[in-house]
Amino acid sequence: MPSTKLLYLENFSLLECESKVLEILPENEKVTLTLDQTIFYPQGGGQPYDTGIIESANGKFIVEEVRSTDGLVRHIGKLENGNFTKGEEVKCLVDGARRMLHSRIHSAGHLVDWAIEKLGIPWTPDPRGYHYPNGPYVTYNGSLDGLDKEKLKADIEQLCTEAIAKGREVNILFMTKDEMQSICRSIPNNLPEPARVIMFGSDFGVPCGGTHVANLSEIKSVTIRKIKPEGENIRVGYDVL
Ligand SMILES: [Zn+2]
Repeated sequence: MPSTKLLYLENFSLLECESKVLEILPENEKVTLTLDQTIFYPQGGGQPYDTGIIESANGKFIVEEVRSTDGLVRHIGKLENGNFTKGEEVKCLVDGARRMLHSRIHSAGHLVDWAIEKLGIPWTPDPRGYHYPNGPYVTYNGSLDGLDKEKLKADIEQLCTEAIAKGREVNILFMTKDEMQSICRSIPNNLPEPARVIMFGSDFGVPCGGTHVANLSEIKSVTIRKIKPEGENIRVGYDVL
């Protein structure tokens, strides 16, 4: 089977698309639907999956969970009515409110990271972030020695608040690792080239496969919940109100 084309990689504002059914399979009590292309974000990168509806003239499918395995995106859920057949054209509709909340939380994680770099805190970002509504956080390798945690919390919050008020545009660019050197804080070794880089304004880029707000103003607000050591790492908990 060919891989599923990930339309959200090129445009994360899209909430609808046309797709073709590659496979439809019953699985336990549920049905798994695989498509040639999708706007549904599968769980990954610390970000939860989208939910929504897939429909055609022949049926309506409720998407309850989305997973990616071996290049194929599997939409897991149930048929509310009718059925689909292999090769059939269907329409995908993502739940926009859920997507927006997850995009705000995820983008806020990048913004916290930007603020920490701007403050000159010598921590290295760790990819193990958690961008779920129940207590999101970002993780760093580094030390809290000599740092006033309360002041740091206030300083990060202030920088985030200012950036949200200014409202930088968020864009997708594809670039080589050389081009990334001057604008990306950390560059993973296993990145394909050219890599997808999310640009917050013109001078802060993050190689990332997640979904993001189109403008930092859409995050609305970021508060820092806590900064604490977690094993050998530092965890910065934040909230998006
Ligand atoms: Zn991201």
